[in-house]
Amino acid sequence: MPNMSVTVNHAIKAFKGKHKLEAVLVQDRASGEVKEWRYDGVFVFIGLAPKSDLVKGLVEIDEGGFVVTDKTLMTSLPGLFAAGDVRAGATKQAASAAGEGATAALMIREYLKSVG
Ligand SMILES: Cc1cc2nc3c(=O)[nH]c(=O)nc-3n(C[C@H](O)[C@H](O)[C@H](O)COP(=O)(O)OP(=O)(O)OC[C@H]3O[C@@H](n4cnc5c(N)ncnc54)[C@H](O)[C@@H]3O)c2cc1C
Repeated sequence: MPNMSVTVNHAIKAFKGKHKLEAVLVQDRASGEVKEWRYDGVFVFIGLAPKSDLVKGLVEIDEGGFVVTDKTLMTSLPGLFAAGDVRAGATKQAASAAGEGATAALMIREYLKSVG
């Protein structure tokens, strides 16, 4: 990629430019140094760290921090279901997350029927 460079561990502080991008202000998270880089285009990748702290210690979580579910989307804690990006094996797409939400709702109904 001769016209691109990949930079990690920097926070975007500002995009500068009048009618098009001219520069980006970034802060190095390690040193705290703020730098201005002149670029025509930027692709910001924010990462994929799941926010599963809420259920940590309560349900099985994989090494990446994703919540493990069975095929009914139930977690290792009976009656607790997970859907969307936080779920291990999820495709990380909006349509899938919405579909999993609907599936989880139907599975919860089945679960509630089964426990009377
Ligand atoms: C930059 C970017 C571009 C994307 N582009 C596309 C695309 O083009 N097409 C596509 O299909 N998908 C795209 N995605 C993926 C899509 O956004 C996700 O798959 C989808 O939003 C996942 O939905 P979700 O409900 O599982 O999680 P989220 O949308 O992340 O929602 C989780 C919510 O839970 C909240 N939350 C977290 N912890 C707690 C807590 N302890 N208590 C209460 N609330 C909490 C969060 O604040 C958040 O509002 C993109 C994602 C990103 C980041």
